[in-house]
Order: sequence, then C-alpha cells, then structure tokens
Amino acid sequence: MSSVFDNLVGQEHISEILRGAVAASRMAEESQEMTHAWLFTGPPGSGRSLAAVAFAQSLICPDNGCGTCNDCNSAKTHGHPDVEIIQTEGLSIKVEEVRELLTRVAWAPSMGGWRVVVIEDADRLTESAANALLKAIEEPGTRTVWLLCAPTLHDVLPTIRSRCRQLQLHTPSLKAVTNVLINRDKIAPSMADFAAHVSQGHIGRARYLATNESVRSNRKTIMQLPLQLGSLASAFQAAQTLLDLATTMASALSRECDEKEVEKLQEAYRKGATGRGIATGGAKAVKELEKEQRLRLTRMVRDSIDGALLDLATFYRDVMMVQSGNADSIINTDSREIIESYALNSTSHSTIYKLNAIMEARANLSRNSAPLIICESLTCKLAKP
Ligand SMILES: [Zn+2]
Repeated sequence: MSSVFDNLVGQEHISEILRGAVAASRMAEESQEMTHAWLFTGPPGSGRSLAAVAFAQSLICPDNGCGTCNDCNSAKTHGHPDVEIIQTEGLSIKVEEVRELLTRVAWAPSMGGWRVVVIEDADRLTESAANALLKAIEEPGTRTVWLLCAPTLHDVLPTIRSRCRQLQLHTPSLKAVTNVLINRDKIAPSMADFAAHVSQGHIGRARYLATNESVRSNRKTIMQLPLQLGSLASAFQAAQTLLDLATTMASALSRECDEKEVEKLQEAYRKGATGRGIATGGAKAVKELEKEQRLRLTRMVRDSIDGALLDLATFYRDVMMVQSGNADSIINTDSREIIESYALNSTSHSTIYKLNAIMEARANLSRNSAPLIICESLTCKLAKP
C-alpha cells in the first residue's frame, strides 16, 4: 500500500519515527512517541515541510497517510477543516497572524481525530509572534498537534524548541535524488544525474532544472559570470545581469500563480454577487491579494538570487578542487574546461576569499539588505585577481 512517507527522499530514519508516532497516536492520548509539538529542521531542499505535511496527512487519514483518499488530498491542498498549513509569502510572520491562527484552531477537531497545524517557516516568526505561539504550545488543546519547520534549531526561540520534539532531516544523497528524478518524474538518466549533481541534493531545484530549458540556459549564463569579471565596470555589469536573471525567473513563476489567484477570487465574488456592496468587497479583496502577491514576488526574487549565488559558489568550489588536486570531484562537469583554465590563472587563496564573499552575500540577503547592493559588493570582490 502506498504511503505519504514514500515521498520523503533519503529520510528513512524520519519516516520510521513518524510512522511510530502515528501508530502511538491511535492508541493513547499522549505518549513518548506522540507529542503535541514537533520541530522539523533541515537544510533547504531536504524536504522538512514535505515531512511535516506527510505527518499531518497520516494523522488525519483513516489509513495512516495513504496519500490518495479525500482526507489526504484535502489536507495537502488547504481544504481540510482540521489541517492548517501556514506558508508565509512575506519575510516575517507577525503576531496578529499568530493570534488569528490561535482563535481559528481553538475549536475541537471537526472530524474527531486530530487538529494539525503546520508552520512551514517557523524561522520567520517575529519575536512577539513566537511568544504568542509559545503559550499555545505549552498548553495545547488535547487533540492539537503543532508541526514547526525551520532550517536549523537556532532559527527558533529556545523556549519554543525546548518544548518540541526535534527531528533533523539531512540532505539526501545524490544517488537518492537521481533515482527519484528517474523513477518518479520520468527524467532521462543522464539529465537526472546532471541535475542532481549541480543542485547538490536539493530535490526541488534538481527537478526544476531538469524540466526547464530556460532555467538551464540561465544557469549557464551565471556560470560564465566569473570569466567576465575583468574590471570594476564589468563587475557592476555582472551584478546587474545577476539581478535581472533572478528577477525574470521569479516574475515568470509568480505571474503564473498571480493570475490564477485573482481569477479564483473574482469568481468567488461573482458567484455571490447581488449588489454594489459585494462588488466593492470584491475589489477590496483583490487589492489585498495583490499586496500579498507583491510581497511574495519580493521573496521569490531573493530566493532566486540565492539560488544563483549557490550556483556561483559551486563554480569557485570546483576551482578550489582543481587547485587542490581533486579535479575528479568537481560538480559542474559540463563546465570542466572553463573551471580548469580559471583554476590555472588564479590562486587558491583568492578562491577561498571569493567563496567567503559569496557566503557573506547570502547571509546579507537573508538579513533583508537591498539586493542590487549585495550583488554589486559581491561582484566587485569576485573581480579582484
Ligand atoms: Zn489517506
């Protein structure tokens, strides 16, 4: 029989624990295995929110998470009355949002099972929002389960994480990612292998790259950037290219969602429309939605720049591999020639400096600094001989 846990790639130990918890949840109110608050941590792409949602499904599904029944499907698509999945489009989750959430989940579960709340970006809770949540986690309703997700333990307030059972996910092996791309997504083996390698175990990125010609061509452009950094002028030019590419990719993605959402909302208002009051209500709702969509776009551009910076980092990482005599272990096998010639014409000392500069830029990006300035400051450092 299929199970939602089958989709968790390379996380066998986590699946095992969660299956145990589901079994325990059917037996007793609370036990060592089944607690009311969980914290899923793991690097981007390890599937921490996937794991949390799978757990939510298995708690409310009559077949322990079959993945095909009505309960499983509606839980995943935000249609189940007892499952709340909180996804942030903005850069932070504010205290008002948490308070509103708490009133929503104060009711007993409608289906008599569990009420499950998944917070996908618990690291984006503001301090006051986290404190509001803390009280709920300390004294949960007897049938409420909180599933928080964050990159690392340190991204969550100590008071919160000490009350959660912690599950640490790991980046799946390249082999595991390659196999999923081949077997589940029907991607040709050579493409799957390439995508898994250059995405370094990030399944979402790997699939996106493998199935998207334009993403692959953008990546190529990014990998050429280090070769074009001969002067300060070219550094500023490269920063602009980086930002333009990221913005184009993010806009294309968000436009698709935007249009569908507005249509859906207008449709909902049209159905009940009888007078002017509802017409203005609809216009107001569309305005609200558009504001949220702008916030999402900002976040998507940042994520997209971060992805480009990671690609750049693999370039310099490979250069360092060549410089240290490990040419066999380079990631970007498709750019071997340019990597080897770059390695010949620079020192390992400067490669380390450049890798550090990229990591610093990524940190600044997550701290909300202006994207263009981050890119410019980075490419100027990368342009140093
Ligand atoms: Zn099911």
